[in-house]
Amino acid sequence: MARRVTVMAACVDLAFLALFLWFDAPLLAWLNLGSIALYAAAYALLARRINLPALALIWTEVLGHATLGTLLIGWDSGFHYYLLMFIPATIVSGGHRTRPFVLVVLLFLFYMGLHAAARATGTLAPLSATGLWVVHAFNVAVVFAMAAYTARYYYGTVRRAEHQLVALASTDPLTGLSNRRNLIDRAEQALQQPRHAGQPTALVIADIDHFKHINDAHGHEAGDRTIVHVAELLARCCRAQDIAARWGGEEFLVLLPATDTGAATLVAERIRAAVAAQPLAHGSAAIAVTLSLGVAEVAHDEPLGPAVARADHALYRSKEDGRNRVTVAGRA
Ligand code: GH3
Ligand code: MG
Ligand code: MG
Repeated sequence: MARRVTVMAACVDLAFLALFLWFDAPLLAWLNLGSIALYAAAYALLARRINLPALALIWTEVLGHATLGTLLIGWDSGFHYYLLMFIPATIVSGGHRTRPFVLVVLLFLFYMGLHAAARATGTLAPLSATGLWVVHAFNVAVVFAMAAYTARYYYGTVRRAEHQLVALASTDPLTGLSNRRNLIDRAEQALQQPRHAGQPTALVIADIDHFKHINDAHGHEAGDRTIVHVAELLARCCRAQDIAARWGGEEFLVLLPATDTGAATLVAERIRAAVAAQPLAHGSAAIAVTLSLGVAEVAHDEPLGPAVARADHALYRSKEDGRNRVTVAGRA
């Protein structure tokens, strides 16, 4: 962002240089050449990540340009408007809690001091009335454009951070699947659409068999890799409209909208078979992994909770019956 600003500011100064040559004010034109040189130096420093001296150069240029422009061409030239751009930049730059506010107060004092100085000295190098009008209009236009651009930039930054936070809060960091809270948040809407269309929604709950043994025999890290391995296989068995979540430690839940018990049982069986068929490579060994699963159909107007409880009950029947199997829950 800072480098882009130096390039834009140098372009503005280049336009001023042409403008002042046009209005036959060579002193002002050469001053702009100095400004362009300062921005070029600031750009080179920023490219080498020497940020503080670069920022000092930018501050010096803007303060100097506003001061000289105001004293030479007068307050009506509008060169002082550029100082106002420092207010949001200073506040957003953050850092120490009080420093930005101290800088804003200093800027205010500088601004008022410049106003007083301009009144005391009068215009030192006056332009023609047309020249003054053009310079003023140009300065106002540039400040409008800069304010709009920086506001858009800050807005974009905040939106991006917001999206990242939402993604972080809704994703399980180990597997990348939805977390429990995200599935619950999305379930209400996912259940609504099939209901309106008179279609059922089903859910599958899966739990890794004897996972404690995997942790004990191969270590916690291998346990984590087993969870990731199962999550990948499970996600591959889901359609785009299904919501797969890590429901707990080594438990997964898949919500299958517009799906009846029969189709959901086929999906559960596919997940079971995929996991059983693909042991996890662990050094030279292979860790055999199996899942026990429970399937339940969400009854019309039934909330998610009771349907999950029925699927959970079916899952525990799978455990009791010898694990590595799918059990379908009775209707609500
Ligand atoms: P069962 O076949 O009856 O499900 O047996 P189990 O050993 O899987 O039993 P249980 O569900 O009680 O054990 C789950 C274990 O999973 C307990 C806990 O230490 C472990 N665990 C939970 N979350 C994680 C995790 O994120 N990583 C690892 N490595 N282990 C976890
Ligand atoms: Mg468990
Ligand atoms: Mg288990």
